[in-house]
Amino acid sequence: MNTGPAATNNPAASSAPTSANSAVAKTATAIVNIASLVTNDPSLGDHTPLGLIQDAAVVIDGDRVVWVGESSKAPATDNRVDAGGRAVIPGFVDSHSHLVFAGDRTAEFNARMSGEAYKAGGIRTTVAATRAASDEDLERNLTRYLDEALRQGTTTFETKSGYGLTVEDEARALRIAAAHTDEVTYLGAHIVSPDYADDPAAYVDLVTGGMLDACAPYARWIDVFCEKGAFDGDQARAILAAGKVKGLHPRVHANQLTYGPGVQLAVELDAASADHCTHLTDEDVDALANSSTVATLLPGAEFSTRAQWPNARRLLDAGATVALSTDCNPGSSFTSSVPFCIALAVRDMGMTPNEALWSATAGGAAALRRTDVGRLTPGARADLTVLDAPSHVHLAYRPGVPLVTEVWRKGVRVV
Ligand SMILES: [Zn+2]
Repeated sequence: MNTGPAATNNPAASSAPTSANSAVAKTATAIVNIASLVTNDPSLGDHTPLGLIQDAAVVIDGDRVVWVGESSKAPATDNRVDAGGRAVIPGFVDSHSHLVFAGDRTAEFNARMSGEAYKAGGIRTTVAATRAASDEDLERNLTRYLDEALRQGTTTFETKSGYGLTVEDEARALRIAAAHTDEVTYLGAHIVSPDYADDPAAYVDLVTGGMLDACAPYARWIDVFCEKGAFDGDQARAILAAGKVKGLHPRVHANQLTYGPGVQLAVELDAASADHCTHLTDEDVDALANSSTVATLLPGAEFSTRAQWPNARRLLDAGATVALSTDCNPGSSFTSSVPFCIALAVRDMGMTPNEALWSATAGGAAALRRTDVGRLTPGARADLTVLDAPSHVHLAYRPGVPLVTEVWRKGVRVV
């Protein structure tokens, strides 16, 4: 057995995966001279939720982390990379985006910032542009925003359909997304299709019938926009239940614009995540705190619609698990930047810099029910970001500054 993180940092900690101290191959790669390393393993380093190790090293073999600990105790390897006293964090896990679309909504944003109120109906503009686009256009657009996100440190992302709203267009969006990520969400229930404006019940039948049949093979998740102007609680329950029968696991757009049944429904159905959570009653907060449903907060949406911020502090104090994601979409949150969302969450939502970093990495992983990403411990996927800063706190301390200097995904330096 080699000396691993459990031995160097906490002799008492022997639970997997931190005890996975298998012999480190000479051909592995050690990233050394890391000023501060976020592992998200509280048994390591400073024993906070971030498991922060100072003067640290990470050893990568293939696509996995095989060792973390103090730099001076790193095992000998043929390949060494000097981090130059910078901070290293797990790659961001962006658990909520809408990246299969065409066109943009610059004019709508400009009007809103010039005084007009936000209405959900703008989605129809993107639906029309997306239907008219070729497969190649949609793929090119998707990869453009994925590259943009990667350069800002995002190594795992979820994305959704929801701008097709026909059987063919929804299935096409999911097929294109599935070529780029395992975290694909069927959102036929984004809004009632304009084609069914006079008969929403018939659209729900389609979403739970033929459209679901066509989409399920490409998706892991099913989602509903449960909101006034979109789908009510009964419709949302029927849609998510139909998805479950087809093997799709629920997540819910809940309580974004007003109070409503979305959060309670998400908890009732054991959804992985209730997303937005901007307008919550005390009962909603309690329900989230006593469930395994993650509250995913999306401050890019409140920023871009000049809306009231979600109260992260209230959720955290109640004991809920909180994730932070971009909601990247052309209408209400056209940012692919997790660092920007972290800065907003710290400035305006009551999160500490440590909490915000955890929520954007381990929190995002929890919202996708993943344990292989969002942490840097032996056995985890070797997804990490090097910041041109001595600590992760700089993500909020230096907002808007491009601090991401290197990104490694699956053990390969990609940025
Ligand atoms: Zn969304």
